[in-house]
Parts: sequence; C-alpha cells; structure tokens
Amino acid sequence: MQNKINQTKKYCNSLTQYSRYKTREVFIGNIPLGGNNPIRIQSMTTTDTMNTIATVEQTIRMVKAGCEYVRITAPSINEAKNLEAIKKELKARGYNVPLIADIHFTPNAAEMAARIVEKVRVNPGNYVDKKKFDLIEYTDAEYQEEIDRIRERFTPLVKICKEYGTAMRIGTNHGSLSDRIMSRYGDTPLGMVESALEFLRICEDENYHNIVLSMKASNPQVMVQAYRLLINKMEAEGMNYPLHLGVTEAGGGEDGRIKSALGIGALLEDGIGDTIRVSLTEDPEFEAPVAIALANRYKGRESHKPIKEIDESPIDPFVYSRRKSFEILSIGGSNVPGVVADYSKRKIISQKDLIDIGYTYDEPSDKWNLSDAAADLIYLRKSVLPFDCPNGLNAIYDFETWKYLENNYNSYPIFTTKEFAETGKKSSTINFVKLYIDDLSDSFLNKVKNDKTVVLVLQTDNLAGMAEQRRVFFDLLNSEILNPVIIKRDYPSITFENLQLYSSTDLGSLLIDGFGDGVWISVDELKVENSGTYVKNFIKKTVTKEKIVNRLLFNILQAARQRISKTEYIACPSCGRTLFDLQETTELIRKRTEHLKGVKIAIMGCIVNGPGEMADADYGYVGSGIDKITLYRQKEVVRKNIPAQNAVDELINLIKEDKNWVEP
Ligand code: SF4
Repeated sequence: MQNKINQTKKYCNSLTQYSRYKTREVFIGNIPLGGNNPIRIQSMTTTDTMNTIATVEQTIRMVKAGCEYVRITAPSINEAKNLEAIKKELKARGYNVPLIADIHFTPNAAEMAARIVEKVRVNPGNYVDKKKFDLIEYTDAEYQEEIDRIRERFTPLVKICKEYGTAMRIGTNHGSLSDRIMSRYGDTPLGMVESALEFLRICEDENYHNIVLSMKASNPQVMVQAYRLLINKMEAEGMNYPLHLGVTEAGGGEDGRIKSALGIGALLEDGIGDTIRVSLTEDPEFEAPVAIALANRYKGRESHKPIKEIDESPIDPFVYSRRKSFEILSIGGSNVPGVVADYSKRKIISQKDLIDIGYTYDEPSDKWNLSDAAADLIYLRKSVLPFDCPNGLNAIYDFETWKYLENNYNSYPIFTTKEFAETGKKSSTINFVKLYIDDLSDSFLNKVKNDKTVVLVLQTDNLAGMAEQRRVFFDLLNSEILNPVIIKRDYPSITFENLQLYSSTDLGSLLIDGFGDGVWISVDELKVENSGTYVKNFIKKTVTKEKIVNRLLFNILQAARQRISKTEYIACPSCGRTLFDLQETTELIRKRTEHLKGVKIAIMGCIVNGPGEMADADYGYVGSGIDKITLYRQKEVVRKNIPAQNAVDELINLIKEDKNWVEP
C-alpha cells in the first residue's frame, strides 16, 4: 500500500495499515535484534553486581520468566570486571543469555565491560558530561569543543565494541540530558533525539553500526514523541537503527503497568519497537510477562480490517495539542476528559451501589460525598435508577428507555446513528450518538456539525481499533467538526492483566495525541482464574468490575497527563546501585501521601543517577549512602544525608513546610 504520510511528519510505515517498522539487524550474542526478528524481551537485575551468585540466580529467574537479554549495572571498573565471573557461572549452569552492561559516568567501566559482555548501554547524557543542572549559554565554538571532547572520550569504546563484536545501546533518558543539550534544546523530545544523534554520528564515522537506540522518559507522552522524532530524524540521515522501548521510573503495581503500556503500546500500535523493557518497582522477573503480553498483541495484527488511507495527517505527531471541541454540560471544551461508568450489566438497588464509582451516600444528612475519582457519567442502558442521580453525575439511557422516562432529571439518551437520524424526540441539552467509522457519511457529519447538543461516542470493532478511531478523529479534524468525542472500547471477555494493558494502550495512544473528551470501557466478563497473587489481592481489595474499571480509567487519564486525581509517584526500578529497599519504602511513602492529589514524589535508589532521573518531580527521596537519604525540592537539595529511619517523616515535614500537605 502506498505510503502517503508527509515526510516531515513521517515516523512509521502507515497510520492506517499495521506493519512493523523495519530496522537494520543488530547482533547481540546469539540473539539478533531488529530486521525481521520478533520483538525481543529484556530486563535488568536489581542485585549487587559484586554478588555473583545472587546476580546469576536472579538472571536465571529472569530468563525463565521470558527475558532474552539481561542487563546488569556496572557502576565502576570492579563491577565491570565481575561480569566475567557472572558470565562464567551462568555458562556453568547452562545459560548463554546475552548480557548487557549498564554504564553511567564511567567510560573505563564501559571499556572493560565491552570486552566481556555482548552489549554495553551508555547514557549520552552522562557518559562524558557531569550533570550540574547549570544552564550555561554555549557559543557555537564552545558547543563544537564539547562535541570534540565527547568524540575523544567515546571513540575508544566504539573501537573496542567493533573489535570484540559487542553491540551498544545509546540510551537517552529525558531526566538526564547533559547541561549542553539542555542549554540548546531544553528538556524536549528534540533534545533527547539530538543527544543520541551526537553519539550515533561518532559511531557512524567509525563505521560501527551494531547499535540500538532508546528515548526513555517517565512521562509517556514525552517518550512517545521522542521515539517518533528519532525515527523521523534517522530517516532524514539515512539511518534505521533498531529501537529499545521503555518508560522509565514507571513505578510498580497498577500505575507502573498502565504507564508502561501507554508509552510502549502507543509505539507498538504504529509498528515501532524491536525490544521492550518494562521497568517496574518490583522484582525483575515480574517485568517480562508484562512485556510479553504487550508484544504478543501484535502477532497477526497485519490482517486487521482495512482502514481508509489518510493523505495527510492533520496533527503534528511530535508536539502535543488537544483537539478543539465545544463544551456541553462540562464535556469537551477546556474540561478534563470525563469518565463514563458502565453499569449496563449491573442492577442498581440502592445509593450504596455508587460507592464503586466515587459517590458515597450519607443517609442521615441525605448528602453525597464525591471522591477525587468520581465518574462523571453513568450508562444504565435500560435499568432505571431508583433514586435521583447525585449532583455531578449524569445518567445515560438507551434512547428507547429514555423516551419513556417519567423523571428526566440528569438523564440523557444515547442513540445509534439511525435512531438519531429518524427520531423527532431528543434532549434539549445532550444527545449521545454512537459512532463507528462506517457511519462517517457527509450527511451525518453535516447533521451533527451544527448541533450543539451532540456528543459522539466513538466505537470500533477493528483489530486495529486505535488506528481506526484515530482515523475518525482525523476526519473530524479535517471536516472541522467540533462536537466532543468520548472514546469507547469494548472488551467482551478479557483477563484482568490484559484489560489493564490493552485499555491503557488503546485509550492512552489517542489521549496523548490530544484526542478524546471522555473515556468509556465496557467489559462483559473479567477473567481472573489464572492470575497471580498480585492480581488476586488487587481484585480482593477492589471487589467489583465497575470499581476496577473506574479506577483504571482515572489512572489512564493520569498517566496520559490529562486528568490528575491522585499523587504521582516516579519510582526507579532499582538496580545494583540501590541503597535501600525500594519496594518497601515506596509502599511506605505511598501509604502516607496517596491523598495528596497532584503532588509528584520521586523515590530513587541512588544519588548518582537518581537526581538526574527524577524528571519533573516536586519532591525527591534519594538514597545517598547506607541508611542515608537526601531529600530534594525539585532539583534542589534540602536535607542532606539524613538517617533513613526519619526520612519519610522529614519528607512529610518538607511537604508541610511548602503548604502542599492536607490531612488525609
Ligand atoms: S536511580 Fe535507581 S535504577 Fe537508576 S541507577 Fe540509581 S538505583 Fe539504579
């Protein structure tokens, strides 16, 4: 199929026909990457690299969980040397998994490791540069001097990799761009791309091509834009290196999975990505199953129902901009995207049934209390609510039910396009109209265009549902249709794990491109029989399907940075540098701060990389020595090396000092 995407916006083969974006093949030990190879799965150990047996045993657990490459931190030359012992022990136990040395700041460790393992990962933000958070103005001559300095320091590693057949990942992180890059490009996707290209050009000059690239960020929107821009810039320079996908500091549990699925999934949807590392604040063997589930979704995707090609994408895929819409009853316009609770398969008996979607009824005062994650709309299909809708919540009924309602208070109809075209009876406030791509006729678009009561509910039954729904948004933009649009996805029978990953990908991919004035998920059957302990515990806590879906929708909106309803945590996945129990501490901090809506807290394992990787956190809790924590207010150190046992209290005191604290 002919590709008609404008070259200046091109970042994938097609926006309407799924196919993998083809990159060059790179050799990493006995497992090649890119080219026609499947999407490879990898992860990183969290053990102390000097502890050979613990690292070997964790590596084996990761391989058994599905990792095809294993990355191990090498903070200094000692750890780099010990990679040899790790490799030997793995071999003795029958494991040949390619190892990757993770390097920050230490070229000598990289040069040592490149002689031992199959791949080294360097961070162009700190391989040569030290991060001082200085915004120095560089003249062109000074900038060039810096590039020359990088060339001098980096070329020996390239030569060693060439000699030993070692692969390399040039892995840019949004949070650790060099001062030089920051001064010229800011912490933008373009800065991330340029940071990698500077190193890549040196490799190319040395005729070394065994390279993989990554553009990670903890904000999935920034991450997606950076990967897209990287491909666009590589194509302009005639390059096609394979891509390693990941969202950094995603955290653990549900948040970690949602953020990862949103960022990684948005790229996979467009055929981008050759290897995946899902990074969770959990034991590394829990990461591979998530990565595998994400990758497996695209097996056979090519056979999806055809979607009409697009001549020209109406959006800039490298810059966020929200689609303009008019406002109807707090939906659309500048309102945050609304959340629809689907109660079509549940009978509502009393007010208590709404507690699952954020509405708590206080009988003595006859008042409703709303949580920060209270749904905005409730779809009841045919089942009439036996009490008045609480303020803030509007009910949606099928048109055939709505037209006979005696009490229309806060109740609105949803039509098929046919019903909408034929009926004489409509609401004077809001009419929801279900829309599939095949309904996009000129007469329909003209009918709704000037009707300020119509909210479209966009649905799909295409295997490439996101691409199809995006295609509809393109048509709406091109036809200047400003009606608000709620994105609806149906998952008739799905496991809990896949629901989390698929819906985050499907809705998140559109939200980060500025599409969607509301979100709606419908699930008939949620399967949990084969789930692990994490899911079973989670389900036990959340109980009903409606509660699970409501929470999921709010979390997707938060991960896409569209609607903030709770505290944001940026937690590193931990590695051999980690100086405290990250999982336990993150949980402790979460328990005490999870009511602080909108506050961003970073929990980072080490002072070497932590501060750089905290991205745009308001507060940082960073390991700075054995039993020592350093607290940050944004990038500024405010409590240095305080004892770990008081550190969480001190963090809370700091939040209180800043008047960002509220009592739970
Ligand atoms: S911030 Fe965390 S994952 Fe990154 S190097 Fe430090 S301890 Fe390791």
